[in-house]
This record gives sequence, C-alpha cells and structure tokens, in this order.
Amino acid sequence: MVTYCKRCLMPDTRPRIVFNGEGVCNACLTADEKHNIDWDERRREFLDYVDRYRSRDGSYDCIVPWSGGKDSSYIAHRLKFEFGLNPLLVTFSPLVPNEVGAYNREEFVKLGFDNLLLRPNQKVARRLANRFFVERGNPKVAWDAGINAVPVQAAVNYRIPLIFYAEHGESEYGGRVLNEESRKIRDFTEVLEHQIGDHPGNWVDEEITERDLAPYQYPDQERLDEVGVKAMYFAYFFRWSMLENYRYMQKAMPGFRTDPNGRTDGTFTDFDSLDDKIDPIYYYMQYVKFGFGRATRDSCRMINNGQMTREQGLQNALAYDGEFPKTFFQDNLDYLGLGENQFTEIVDKHRNPEIWEMRGNQWCLRYPPG
Ligand SMILES: [Zn+2]
Repeated sequence: MVTYCKRCLMPDTRPRIVFNGEGVCNACLTADEKHNIDWDERRREFLDYVDRYRSRDGSYDCIVPWSGGKDSSYIAHRLKFEFGLNPLLVTFSPLVPNEVGAYNREEFVKLGFDNLLLRPNQKVARRLANRFFVERGNPKVAWDAGINAVPVQAAVNYRIPLIFYAEHGESEYGGRVLNEESRKIRDFTEVLEHQIGDHPGNWVDEEITERDLAPYQYPDQERLDEVGVKAMYFAYFFRWSMLENYRYMQKAMPGFRTDPNGRTDGTFTDFDSLDDKIDPIYYYMQYVKFGFGRATRDSCRMINNGQMTREQGLQNALAYDGEFPKTFFQDNLDYLGLGENQFTEIVDKHRNPEIWEMRGNQWCLRYPPG
C-alpha cells in the first residue's frame, strides 16, 4: 500500500519522509512552520555573518556552488549586487552538458562574475555513471559527490571560508533533519549518507584508481578547520521558492533561457534543472523506484509554497510523471554505453514490484495518486 500526503502529493515511498497522525508529511509541516519565522530577524542574522566574512582586500569572500540554473544564479546575483559580496562561482560540470545550460552560464558570467569550472575526467565519469545506473538505477551518484566536493575543495584551495548552498533538501522536501542547526549550516555527513550512500574512496576498481577519484573526495577535516570553512543554506535566511527564484532571474537576466520544448520531459515546468541532458533519466528512475516522478516533485514544491492547489498538482502528476525521457535519449544511451534493450532491462530491474504491476503489456502503478 502506498499512502500520499493529504496536503501535498508526496507518497510515503519517498526515502526518509515521515507522516503525522493526520496524514500530513514533514515537508508540509516545515512549510507551516515558515509562517512563524521572523524573516527580518533572519535577515539580520545573515547580515551579521556576511559582515564577519566580508573581504576588504579585493579577494573573494564567499563561494557559490553554481550550476547556472535559476536557484544558484539567484543567490549569486543577490550576494553580489544586493549585499556587496565578492563571490566566486564554482561549477562541477553537468554529466552531459546541453546548450541551454551552457548559454545561461555564459550570459550570467557576462553580468560580472568569476567562474571556476571543473570538467572531470570523462573516462572515469562515464564509467561511474554507467556503474551506478546499473547498480542503483541512478546515473548521478558520482556526480552528486562531485558537486558536493568540488566547491569545498575550492574553498580550501583558495582559502575562502564561506560557502552558500541553496536549500536544505531534507527539511524542505521531506526527510530526516539531524538537528535544528543542520537546516542552517551544512552537515556533510548527512549529504554523504543520504545523497551519495557510500564513500567515494570505495569506488576504486580494476579501471579506476584512487587518484581518478580526486574530484569526488571531500577534503580532510584538518584542512577544512585550517581555513575555517563554513557552508550555509541561503534558504535558511530568506524565503525560498523555485518559482520566485525563476521570476527574479527573468528580471535580472532577461535572456535567461528555458526548455526549448516549452516543457521538460516528465513535468509541466520549463525552467528547472535544465543544464544536464541526463536529468530526465534521473527523474524517470525516481518514478520507477519510488512511484513518484518529476511532476509530483515540482507540484509538491509549489503546493507547499501556496502556488498550486493539490487538485492541480494531482492533474500534473497523472499527466506527466510517467512520461518517457525521450529528449536526448540517444545521447544518454551513448554516454552510458548502453543499447536500448539493455536500458529497458536495467529500468525493469529497479522497478519496485510492491509499487508496480503489469496490466496487459503495460506497467501500471498499483496505488496511483488520488
Ligand atoms: Zn505533504
């Protein structure tokens, strides 16, 4: 049996989600709590931190892990132009970069930013993407490690102690919150455990050496302490909404490009998670493994922010969640080194039989959202 949150649409198959006695999930309860937050007080707290770290000699005073998407660009833009900081934007390259992402990054840098890009060894990156797609149904496990490690490596190497991440996913979207402080200050143990699942040092095999894994490894605590690295969530200090961030970026950078198809595979939005050709496969696999797709994810975020009704979200989920990731499909097969039949076999290997059943010759959700 699958139970869906009565307020948003998230099913209890989402890892680490918790429902209260009324059938409401913890992401919704977090959204409720936000009504009681004194945002002026949070802003003062933010300014306090920023003033402590503000550079006075022209050096960088903070790092923004930056994909070029609406969320990280919104943060970087405010830090630089509203709060007068001097951020260094650090990018871990998308696995399979696409044109929209490259265009948006280039246009944003033109607004007046410095960007450090790490494109990792593609022999290793492709092997890891293939391995984790086969083993865990997620081609982005190593990429997740890289996107977490590289900005922190840059903080240590450039001696920039402050990093601004976007939102704390565990509390915003339904998960386990280690402690109150972890909503404000990033706890890497939590990231390692929940997103990556094991230590990148364990990925050595007959073709991958320890040295190949450098981009995926988090620096030692000793080196972090030496620089005094502190990673904070911007969304702790300011109201967080992917829709509002997008609207902000439309004004800040009128040429900000969205999905040229007018809508991204698997969802109703055209402005989120656009820079990697492999993302539609990532979200499709989430649907296969947990029974909720990208349209549910996007709808829940908007329901939580009061920007959508549950009924609208339900329509979106039913219309788009199961859509096959057709855009860039061949590029992705080439990247993963798989044929179409192998791809289908791997997908079905990860299909959870408690969630799915075969009707006729079609896989159907046993307990669709309602
Ligand atoms: Zn909910």
